[in-house]
Amino acid sequence: LSEVAEIAAIIDGHKEELIALADLTWDNPELRWEEHAAVAAQIKLAEAEGFTSERDLTGIPTAFAAQAGRGGPLIAILGEYDALAGLSQAADVTEPQPASNNDGGNGHGCAHHLLGAGSLLAAIAVKDYLATHGLPGRVRYYGCPAEEGGGGKTYLVCRGAFDDVDAAFTWHPGFTSKVMTSAMLASVQAYFRFTGRPAHAATSPHLGRSALDAVELMNVGVNYLREHMPDDARIHYAITDTGGRSPNVVQASAESLYFVRHPKLAETYDLFERVKKIAQGAALMTDTTWSAELDSVFAELLPNATLNRRLQHHLEAVGGVPFDAADLHAAARFQAILSSTDVDMARRVGGLTTTAVETSLHQGVIPLGTLPAVVHGSTDVADVSQIAPTAQIGAPCWSIGTPPHSWLAVAQGKTTYAHKAMVHAATVLAVATIDLLQDEQLLDGAKQEHSERIYESPYQRPFAPEVLPAALHDRRSGLERSVN
Ligand SMILES: [Zn+2]
Repeated sequence: LSEVAEIAAIIDGHKEELIALADLTWDNPELRWEEHAAVAAQIKLAEAEGFTSERDLTGIPTAFAAQAGRGGPLIAILGEYDALAGLSQAADVTEPQPASNNDGGNGHGCAHHLLGAGSLLAAIAVKDYLATHGLPGRVRYYGCPAEEGGGGKTYLVCRGAFDDVDAAFTWHPGFTSKVMTSAMLASVQAYFRFTGRPAHAATSPHLGRSALDAVELMNVGVNYLREHMPDDARIHYAITDTGGRSPNVVQASAESLYFVRHPKLAETYDLFERVKKIAQGAALMTDTTWSAELDSVFAELLPNATLNRRLQHHLEAVGGVPFDAADLHAAARFQAILSSTDVDMARRVGGLTTTAVETSLHQGVIPLGTLPAVVHGSTDVADVSQIAPTAQIGAPCWSIGTPPHSWLAVAQGKTTYAHKAMVHAATVLAVATIDLLQDEQLLDGAKQEHSERIYESPYQRPFAPEVLPAALHDRRSGLERSVN
């Protein structure tokens, strides 16, 4: 039996259990920092498999680690399990329709239910393979909370959870089979709060100081800033508190949430300082006071070309996901909802350059060198990539063109083809991890490349180790993170 075939056989023996775990998590979608049921189910399965688990990793209640193996290097495999608000959707239904038990609730629009179960499946296969062959090496599965807007991994990095890791692998559901070679943007996310004075808007407007005016003027100021910022930077905002629904009451408090992004974290902070000056200006203009509170910070993602080349080799050796005619047919029903323009654009952006046979599901592998150097999004995998060489693959869990964070993505979360893609990702990650545990030269090369890039652009952990996310403040004694 070849190594790949042997690993595939191990995966085969465990896959039903992990598919059931993914389905269970899909059925009970939990938001960032609240993934208690998902974590309990994951720990139960990992412990039954013989992993040594560490709950409340670094004091974060829905973070955990599960480790197996002895000696050798330590490779991390990262999993996630958080859902998104307002995306409740019935499985396999081709129109927007909330799940029957979950009206208007949460939904797995980014397929993190598959991400977590697939990564755990990979870790199980690595453990079994090492044990069968009596090989040295350690694998540690990380249950990472709050990827969606929470930066769970960033906090874990700041609290030292990855300090002893030699390298890390992960994957993400999408609609193509690929090694994710693109860099991604650093991001500083903060709430801006303005406080004014309430007044009757008609009888005593001169006594009022409008916090809502300040929010609007700040947005206007930032829109002027856009002309004078670097090309690859991005700034966007949402008004998260308008201060009330009555036009005849001067709004005494209002709040916006800003994301400021740039290819380098240091320059992102510089840009963020300019945004803060605009907030200050808006407060001066309106005679209000202002404050900013950091919500989360992501570093830029550092791709590792050494690991990416090897991952590509393994991905091509394993091949595309073996979808059958029933899968293609099922996925086509979802693809039919999108316009052909949307699907064509998604194909191009996704690196699918031909209009070949694959109509609804990606059956091949995206060649190395196809994807853009930078993708203008952000991920908390980035902070792990600053600590240790990190590489990731994407797997086609959805029909081609499916937008992430949509009801379409949620609806496909329990399909046979989504399960197949998850199992496929687990196989590739297990093969790559076992390879990396045994190939000292490969690991050295990956580390060498990593240290050169860190030397060029040193990483500052965004938070002090004692800082907990704001969402956990009331549960534990966290520090305030006022930044103005
Ligand atoms: Zn995601």
